[in-house]
Amino acid sequence: MSFNLTDLYRESIVEAAQAPRHHGQLTKKNASVELHNPSCGDVLVLDGYFKDNKLVDVAFSGYGCTISQASASLMTDHVLGQEISEIKNEVMLFSSLITDELSQAQKDHLGDCIMLEGVKEFPARIKCATLAWKAIYQLIENYEGQK
Ligand code: ZN
Repeated sequence: MSFNLTDLYRESIVEAAQAPRHHGQLTKKNASVELHNPSCGDVLVLDGYFKDNKLVDVAFSGYGCTISQASASLMTDHVLGQEISEIKNEVMLFSSLITDELSQAQKDHLGDCIMLEGVKEFPARIKCATLAWKAIYQLIENYEGQK
């Protein structure tokens, strides 16, 4: 399979970045993190509200490139409502998606997030795609550290 820059910025990725889901800040939250990706200039703030070991609300803000914004929109939409242990598994799956090969079953598990798979052909953009996933992992650690 071959990729070019047009594939990387497929319409669906651009749409996710331009009309992001779960964008903003939470008034009711019990964890928050801010992560930077200096290689691109992306800044991501992630708020979460956890209850009964589940992520019951999530929102992101900040600014960055199309890939980082699309990834944050897709990630938040995907993990909302999941249990903490499931989210940790999703983080590992997404990391493998853009650095390695996944089985079809694993890809099915990631849902719409697999549209970012093309990023693996562009090593300079991998940090943009993984920023949101590092953020959700740190958000969980932040929350668990308070308990
Ligand atoms: Zn970026």
